[in-house]
Amino acid sequence: MTEYVITPPAIASLAVAGTSARFPVRRIFCVGRNYAAHAREMGRDPDREPPFFFMKPADAVVDTGAAIAYPPETKNFHYEIELVVALSKGGTDIAPEQALDHVYGYGIGIDLTRRDLQLAARDLGRPWDWGKSFDHSAPIAPLQKLAQTGHPAQGRIWLAVNGVTKQDADLSELIWNVPEIISTISRSMKLAPGDIIMTGTPAGVGPIVRGDHVTGGIAGVGEIEIRVV
Ligand code: MN
Repeated sequence: MTEYVITPPAIASLAVAGTSARFPVRRIFCVGRNYAAHAREMGRDPDREPPFFFMKPADAVVDTGAAIAYPPETKNFHYEIELVVALSKGGTDIAPEQALDHVYGYGIGIDLTRRDLQLAARDLGRPWDWGKSFDHSAPIAPLQKLAQTGHPAQGRIWLAVNGVTKQDADLSELIWNVPEIISTISRSMKLAPGDIIMTGTPAGVGPIVRGDHVTGGIAGVGEIEIRVV
């Protein structure tokens, strides 16, 4: 048994629908600008440029229903509803045709973003981490096993703030689909069981403030909700 000089951190994990067992999270990969209308609203050309990625720490995950404290150092705290892919198998140079064999299941995430910090970093050519990778920045609804969902490639993805719909799109609008995303990441680093991927958000992102009730969902995958406190 390895001895540690301090208490090792707990394993970050996600709930799984239909079981009390949890999915251990190794890394969180996030895809940038993966819906054309969102790329446009962020002031960028949605042409099929190669996908790009950023990451969040594994322990940014929180379960649906969480009360999320309004984070420090921002005046523009945003929601982004996203399809989440959880991997049960890893590998390098995974062909798109084999990519779906690596999927454990699917969930729904909200890529919480300190937009002011992200855009300031972007415009200065600096890393996005302070805008994207802060505490509790990845609420994720219980994963659904494949038997429940299959591989969702189309279906409504939506988010509402206090009951008012803000994002309303279809998974078929993804610029880079799930097999292409898995394949692309695996050509750059070795994917591993426990890795999850937040696949990008559709148009309609916007601010939330203390007291807001945020709800969202993906057809066939379920729903998520958080409160900002
Ligand atoms: Mn996002």
